[in-house]
Amino acid sequence: MPLQLPIYMDHAATTPCDPRVVEAMLPYFTEKFGNSGSRNHSFGWAAEEGADYGREMAARLIGATEKEIIFTSGATEGNNLAIKGSAYMYQKAPAGAAKRGHIVSCLIEHKAVLDPCKRLQKEGFDVTFIEPPADGVVTAEMVKNALRDDTILVTIMWANNELGTINEVRQIGSLCKERGIIFHTDATQWAGKMPTDVEADNIDLLTWSAHKMYGPKGVGALYVRRHRPRVRLQALQEGGGQERGFRSGTLNISGIVGMGKACEIAMAEMEHDAIRLAKLKAKIEAGVLAQLDSCVVNGHKDKRLPHITNISFGFVEGEGLMMAVKDIACSSGSACTSASLEPSYVLKSIGVGDELAHSSLRLSLGKWTTDEQVEHTTSAVVQGVKKLRAMSPLYDMHKEGIDLSKVQWAHH
Ligand code: PMP
Repeated sequence: MPLQLPIYMDHAATTPCDPRVVEAMLPYFTEKFGNSGSRNHSFGWAAEEGADYGREMAARLIGATEKEIIFTSGATEGNNLAIKGSAYMYQKAPAGAAKRGHIVSCLIEHKAVLDPCKRLQKEGFDVTFIEPPADGVVTAEMVKNALRDDTILVTIMWANNELGTINEVRQIGSLCKERGIIFHTDATQWAGKMPTDVEADNIDLLTWSAHKMYGPKGVGALYVRRHRPRVRLQALQEGGGQERGFRSGTLNISGIVGMGKACEIAMAEMEHDAIRLAKLKAKIEAGVLAQLDSCVVNGHKDKRLPHITNISFGFVEGEGLMMAVKDIACSSGSACTSASLEPSYVLKSIGVGDELAHSSLRLSLGKWTTDEQVEHTTSAVVQGVKKLRAMSPLYDMHKEGIDLSKVQWAHH
């Protein structure tokens, strides 16, 4: 079969739905359309069975019990509920007072964690955002140095969505446990890809989303620990009292069934997928680095997810790079914020300069990524960068051995 273009290399943004997931969901749109809150007829019971299945699979995936799972609309909602809901519940002083409590997070968290933390800051909480090291890995030592007597919550992601770097979650959890501090982790890029055990990993609150693991969009789950300690949250959304009052609203049964199926498949296949994808990712990195000079793979060399790579290319310009690899659907190191191209705050925070941050690509592989696609991607990136460099006077100067950092540029 001829290679189909464009090639999807953006699985960290979202994944296609597994056809087995779609198949499991379909009956819940038509014959099993009931409201799981309808207790007195079989339509309601059929829907409830669907929710029970989804809950059982979601719980099993992370080593939790069914009663510890709250279904949400995705990781953004889960993060908001975990962070704001626990901050309001464990605050040291009520709204309006100074010193409501201290929260620890990190500068390279997803916006769905940073923005709830900033909201809390405006409301009188103190937040310490840890500055990540150059390799992007947040260690227990860094968290330990940020803790205070009034710390109520630590929120550190499991794996970074731009770099794929893996933080010291188990050790951070253990530290929080010792100090009686609630520990939340945004596991959106991790869960369903890598083994997760909320007991062994010392986690109190864990967020994830179905659409990053071959499930449907618009559904996710939040784990809330019930024993040692029993974690309490203030609900952010009130109404019918579903999900034990934590999250009111009629359950998205088809989505929950789809998420459950995605979890069930992940449990059976993630190990195999991870081994295969790690090899393919290594092939891209080796191919690029062997054929191009002045490139850097961002983030820790080993402590990274198997399927994400983020590479900066010197002497090319960001927009040109995206144009040059237009057959490869991937993310750039720039984000469009209010009409201007801003370099990625994640890359900037780990010390990548503005220029290099702009000329970076995040390639993220998935379950159905083939060898052939990987080979094509590698050669498209290499050819694209070579073409741009062939037109770059800066690259010529670099090749001639001129140290560009010492050049005195004329300003007019
Ligand atoms: N956290 C992380 C680490 C993510 O990668 C994403 C998705 N980009 C989110 C949160 C938000 O997830 P959702 O789209 O399910 O709200």
